[in-house]
Amino acid sequence: MSFYIRIWQACDITNIAKHLLIVGDVTADCVNCRELGIDYAKTKICPKCSTEFHFIASRHTGAMDGGRGATVKRIKDRRPDLTFIDYEDYKQITGKQQARDFFK
Ligand SMILES: [Zn+2]
Repeated sequence: MSFYIRIWQACDITNIAKHLLIVGDVTADCVNCRELGIDYAKTKICPKCSTEFHFIASRHTGAMDGGRGATVKRIKDRRPDLTFIDYEDYKQITGKQQARDFFK
């Protein structure tokens, strides 16, 4: 039997941000150009900026899906080709990065 388990790995956040789809309620957004309303189940390349998607995150993982990966499973079933990253991790790191850039 297989389960989803979170693995911590050192990642280049700039590279992730360039190729990341963030899933909202129904559709997804391209982080690179902020295009909205992307069908994450089918879209491999952003229709607006042509970036290729390699990573996917969801605004609704964690407490809202019972914390045991129901949302991750739903998305990974549709997109096994993408690496699922934790939205809270992404937000926290990029938030810190923006704060650092701001005080430069
Ligand atoms: Zn885009």
